[in-house]
Amino acid sequence: MDYETVMIGKITEKCPACEEYAEKNSTTPPKIAVMACEGACARGEVARRAANMVAHRLAPDGTVRICLGGAFTKDTGQRNLVRRAEKVIAIEGCFINCSSRMMTGVLPDLKPVIIRAYLVYNLDLPFGIDEVPDEMFSVYAHQVATHVVAGFGWGDGGPAAGDTAGTKGGCGPAPSGGCGE
Ligand code: SF4
Repeated sequence: MDYETVMIGKITEKCPACEEYAEKNSTTPPKIAVMACEGACARGEVARRAANMVAHRLAPDGTVRICLGGAFTKDTGQRNLVRRAEKVIAIEGCFINCSSRMMTGVLPDLKPVIIRAYLVYNLDLPFGIDEVPDEMFSVYAHQVATHVVAGFGWGDGGPAAGDTAGTKGGCGPAPSGGCGE
């Protein structure tokens, strides 16, 4: 794989709310870290909502929600949550796999379980979030979130038998013919 080098400006400021959340959720044993690509398009919106559903509604005791920007751009509490997690879930809006590629850039040994959200709800969504009814985002995100939670029984990060939609153990190739396939 080819790489590009990125220079990220360091800052000394910390977000108190973010650090407090990270400290509170830095448990022993560590919680499952749940991140999403956070894309601005409709696919990213589904991924973001699904990650929030998992961490805040469906499995709040066993998971912690990762702020991708905070974990990627500074080495403080959020990145530590990812670093010490035994399992990291990356919910990706499309095959570009932004969250897993970003975080493996700063934590090279990271092996996130990649959930390709678009393969779970199985639609080729448009770019604009104004082109998808708000309630449908919740439907698609719930499908993805329940798929993620069902997969928590995976022993080694792989899928349970007969449950493979949207699951990939590493950054895989693009699907042919478009994001929705
Ligand atoms: S994974 Fe796809 S949808 Fe998500 S931020 Fe990257 S390009 Fe956008």
